[in-house]
Amino acid sequence: MRSPAQASPYPHPRRSTPNTCARVQDVPPAATVAAGHGPDRPPVAAPAELLRRLRARTAADPVTHVERVPARAGQPAPWPGWVPEELRAAFARRGVVAPWRHQAEAADLAYAGRHVVVATGTASGKSLAYQLPALATLLADPRATVLYLAPTKALAADQFRAVAGLELEGVRPACYDGDTPRAERDWIRRHSRFVLTNPDMLHHGILPGHAHWSGFLRRLTYVIVDECHTYRGVFGSHVAHVLRRLRRQCARFGRTPGQALAGSRSTPGRALAGSRGTPGPVFVLASATAGDPATAAGRLTGLPVTAVTEDASPRGGVTFALWEPPLLPADTDAADPGVADLAPSRRSALRETADLLADTVAAGVRTLAFVRSRKGAEVVAANARRALDEAVPGLGERVAAYRAGYLREERRGLERALLRGDLLGLASTNALELGVDLVGLDAVLICGWPGTRASLWQQAGRAGRSGDEALAVLVARDDPLDTYLVHHPEALFGRPVEATVLDPANPYVLAPQLACAAHEAPLTPADLELFGSGAKEAVDSLVEAGALRQRPTGWYWRHRERPEVDLRGEGGAPVCVVEAATGRLLGTVDGGSSHFLVHPGAVHLHQGVSYVVDSLDLEEGCALVHPEEPDWSTHARDVTSLTVASVRSYVDAGPVGLFLGEVDVTSQVVSYQRRRIATGEVIDTRPLDLPARELRTVAVWFTVSPESLAAAGVEPADVPGALHAAEHAAIGLLPLMATCDRWDIGGLSTALHPDTEAPTVFVYDGHPGGAGFAERAYRTAAQWLRATREAIAECGCEAGCPSCVQSPKCGNGNNPLSKPDAVRVLDVVLANLPPAGPPQQPGPADAPDSAAAGSQE
Ligand SMILES: [Zn+2]
Ligand SMILES: [Zn+2]
Repeated sequence: MRSPAQASPYPHPRRSTPNTCARVQDVPPAATVAAGHGPDRPPVAAPAELLRRLRARTAADPVTHVERVPARAGQPAPWPGWVPEELRAAFARRGVVAPWRHQAEAADLAYAGRHVVVATGTASGKSLAYQLPALATLLADPRATVLYLAPTKALAADQFRAVAGLELEGVRPACYDGDTPRAERDWIRRHSRFVLTNPDMLHHGILPGHAHWSGFLRRLTYVIVDECHTYRGVFGSHVAHVLRRLRRQCARFGRTPGQALAGSRSTPGRALAGSRGTPGPVFVLASATAGDPATAAGRLTGLPVTAVTEDASPRGGVTFALWEPPLLPADTDAADPGVADLAPSRRSALRETADLLADTVAAGVRTLAFVRSRKGAEVVAANARRALDEAVPGLGERVAAYRAGYLREERRGLERALLRGDLLGLASTNALELGVDLVGLDAVLICGWPGTRASLWQQAGRAGRSGDEALAVLVARDDPLDTYLVHHPEALFGRPVEATVLDPANPYVLAPQLACAAHEAPLTPADLELFGSGAKEAVDSLVEAGALRQRPTGWYWRHRERPEVDLRGEGGAPVCVVEAATGRLLGTVDGGSSHFLVHPGAVHLHQGVSYVVDSLDLEEGCALVHPEEPDWSTHARDVTSLTVASVRSYVDAGPVGLFLGEVDVTSQVVSYQRRRIATGEVIDTRPLDLPARELRTVAVWFTVSPESLAAAGVEPADVPGALHAAEHAAIGLLPLMATCDRWDIGGLSTALHPDTEAPTVFVYDGHPGGAGFAERAYRTAAQWLRATREAIAECGCEAGCPSCVQSPKCGNGNNPLSKPDAVRVLDVVLANLPPAGPPQQPGPADAPDSAAAGSQE
């Protein structure tokens, strides 16, 4: 046996992380760690019977759809022939007898030198897909190294425990992050062959210190990018360039997979990789289920990536109900206090979830409720407790809230109590905060669309004991997207709906990243190709700004210090929120939204506690607040104007035009409304004195000719309300197409825009330089606007409500809005737009897309 001294200097875990690979007892399928049946637990009703009881509570049936997600048997595959016996034995010790088919397929591709992304469901065992080729290579080539990247330190630590638990000789896995003591860092750089870190550490530590890492980088065979769907928007665009910088450093140290391994062993796959001339390591990415993962992974790495998407792991059966709370009769809003929704017209999702939780707990059903905010989780738990105590005094004790603010031990304690059955109901904020053991519950309630289909399945995946059916319920909030989804189950079940979007060409990301690259080593013309379109312009702007100096051999960083670039920073320096009386820092607000959220007089919620802003000092970047809980909420209103800077691409569809391009948005927060929390009634509007701000970003826009609007029955006086309502709903539905939320996006509509000379609706990225959302909207315009039209037309309200055309962030106080005319506008657009949309790749700037002739269709 090995001597412990040869292994990593870190202790092995007492227990290995549960791994979802084929185990002896898993064929037929079984849950990872099933919740036990306590002897005192009454038998649990079948999901169908439980659901019948829940929906019988009210006169109007709140269930819009029931989907039976069948159990799925796993499909094991034989071990690939190249997996060494030692590695098979190590997995066998953990109970893994064979990989699932998708794991073997992805591992084979990676081992053959192909960049691969495996995009399958939660707990489908994606880690085996990258562990197999990486560890097999480390065992075969004593010099090879592997770099693993996770979005969080905690995830890297979990993965470290999994790899260390295999006890493979000579691999020496080690976590390298901001918490790693100095003394250990040196050891890791010299001896570890499997370094686990995060993109921030790669950006701030490893790449700037590449001289210390040259040995490791020279021998780098695999780069593993775990949970790669989290690299989206501006953050994702930064990470894309950090990976290009990594590829550049590997290339500088001059190896290709084929060359490095030629002396130590030869496999056909390696030779192929070498002969293809692919410089640098092979990338293996793991993603949650997402639309078009190959394209997203290709944008992230800048390399051609093959996707493996067919999930062959076993799954328990789930009865999944979509639930729409009933419309409230007029004037009963006051009976629903404590909910900050503006003018709710449906019963709040929080109330509904609390009632469902009380009912399932009363029936002895072990239930987990997911709520989006901490405050919401506490409201749900408190209301469920109260309802239970009214029915059976003492029963309320079996429900608890579970918050991120609790200590890890407290949280694990709550999880154990739920697994044992001491607790029957838990209201939690986020599936990722829960321990991996908490699966096998009888029911999961999801209060509000969690933002992505991946999160939905992650949350629903906590339900389902081995062999038994479980119940999952999605409770819709009063919001256009939630409303659309509970009436369009086809958008949820059986297909991935959203793609991960990022835009590495964003000049606000590209320029600072090129500065970092130049600091690491002078940039050459070949490097510019690596960093993609826009790199030359960005370098020129850096030269002009005095950051780079051009010499015959390339572009040089002119300063001593490193450029300061924060991967997660967005739109200006953050504003600190400080309690005036104590000087205590409560937190920060993103600079871009500070005018909206912490203007003087704003009610600011922080971890469920209410504060009122006394002053906002923009130069110091600081808002002073005091604790106060007034019975109103505040809503900032802004005045926005927009000019078109350039058109990247367009579709000429007769009376309708669809465009993608750069715009300059000027907005000024000019006033705020105070509204009663209980009723949404406007108390007053108060003026504000804040400066205007400029944003250069990317927008999608459509124009409709006045004649076609008139022909469709939209009176000229109703055009502004029609466009405004369509704009709101379109913003609300865009997250269906791209992983963003409506706060990432802005909009503007006008009956006559000076640049387009037509009635126009603009939807723009709320981040400087764009984040890919508007571009995604442009590429999927027909599908996006069709969903928007249906969401408005199918809403049961008369004149527009938060479920369709009202927006919680409208700068004009939701005025004017015309719901029926918005449908007419969208009908005109959809009748003229080519249904397939523009081609999937952007055409040359300012040139019409080839498939865009109005005659098509
Ligand atoms: Zn409505
Ligand atoms: Zn508006």
